[in-house]
Order: sequence, then C-alpha cells, then structure tokens
Amino acid sequence: MNARFLEKFGFFWIFIDKSEKTQKFGVSMSSSTQPKISRDLIEQLVREQVYAAMKQPAPRLAPNKLLVNISARHCHLTQEAVEALFGPGYQLKPMKDLYQHGQYAAKETVTLIGPRSRVISNLRILGPCRNLNQVELAYTDSIALGFDIPVKMSGDIAGTPGGMLMGPHGYFEMKEGIIRAQPHVHMHPDDASYYGVKHLDTMKLKVHGALGMTFDNLVVRVDPSFKLEVHIDTDEGNACGLKPDTFCELIQ
Ligand SMILES: [Zn+2]
Repeated sequence: MNARFLEKFGFFWIFIDKSEKTQKFGVSMSSSTQPKISRDLIEQLVREQVYAAMKQPAPRLAPNKLLVNISARHCHLTQEAVEALFGPGYQLKPMKDLYQHGQYAAKETVTLIGPRSRVISNLRILGPCRNLNQVELAYTDSIALGFDIPVKMSGDIAGTPGGMLMGPHGYFEMKEGIIRAQPHVHMHPDDASYYGVKHLDTMKLKVHGALGMTFDNLVVRVDPSFKLEVHIDTDEGNACGLKPDTFCELIQ
C-alpha cells in the first residue's frame, strides 16, 4: 500500500493502487453524508485526479453531457389555431418546462381526427406558439389513425398529410403538417465544434444496452439557443430499449 495515491474531496475519496499493472480507481460515498454535488462534478474531479496521477494530459472532454430523450406524440400550433380550438384571445398555459430553453408542454391537449374518423385524444400541445401547425406522431400512431406519414424534419411539411383538430371551442383543419419527425440532435455551436459537425449534417447515435442499436441518420440541428439533446420518438425509443441510464454516444 506504500504506492497508494489517496486524496480526500469532502465526502468522497479517490483511490489508485499503483501496485496493480492496471490502475484502478473507485469512489466511495460516505453513508452518513448526503451527496451535495452532482455526479457530473464527481466524475470530472475523479477524471482530473486520475490523469494527474498518471502524469498524462486529460483527454478533450465534450462540453456538455449527451441527453437522449423520447418525444411522445405532440403538436405545435399557431396562435390562430389555438384561438379556433380554445376560443378568441386564448393563451396556452405552460404545464412543464422542456429541456430546450423556452419550450414547454402546455396544459392543453387536442383531439386529432384522422382520415377514417379514427381519433387520437389528449394530443399534447407544445408551446410557445409557432408560425406553422405541425403534428408529430410515431409510426404506430399513424397506423392506428389510418395515415401513411412521411419522415420529415420539423418545419418541412409541404405536401405532408393533413387532418382535423378538435378542441373545447371548435375545430381547426390542418391542410398539411402531420409527420413522423426525423431523429435529430439539438446542438449549441460549442457542441457542433466539439463533434466537428455543422447544421444539417448527419451523425450516428449508438445506443448501448441489452438491445444495442445505431441510428444512422441522426440530423444535426445547430442553434445558439439549443442545448445538446437527441430527440427520437416512442417507437424508436421502445425499439432500442432506451432507459434514463442507457449509455448513448454520438459517432461520425
Ligand atoms: Zn427536437
């Protein structure tokens, strides 16, 4: 134990046994102390100390942690559509903030009526209002409704199927705008620089875990307002068995 490297950071310890051919490190949490700092910070401190102990430069780290989220079916509406569905002057009420800055799930939902009079009720509206009306469904939803919907990037709705929305005040007919969203990743320019990609490039998303799956056509969307986050739909999330702790990585 004479070559042991031991250092204490408040409530956790870093331990490297240099007598082993392969260096190991571990973190032990004091059971009597509640964690006060984030797991990310612990990992960063451990990493820095390990590389310092090995006298090696730390690898270049991603500026932000990758988050992969499943988007359940939802719609984006114009203020005009909101007023047709909920009444003149109606304003959406935010219910839950989303990860992307300024975006929220509204309290309000609508009913979507498909071409064979089949319906999806409780279709969540995401706010704030946009300048186009768009419904994003998983493929399973579209089969249930009797649609054949195309895979499109958000906003690219020309020529896509339409449908009827019903709210407590009235109906709103969408001439087009029902899509299956292309799997995509939101990136801040710092993230795009780290991964060496630009707006509308494609990357691969490798999802690890029991099923293990790679999405080959993940479209990159870069904007200074974006935070690093992948969006896939419920069909895709179920197919790859995505759970909150599933390890995922972006690869070229
Ligand atoms: Zn998105």
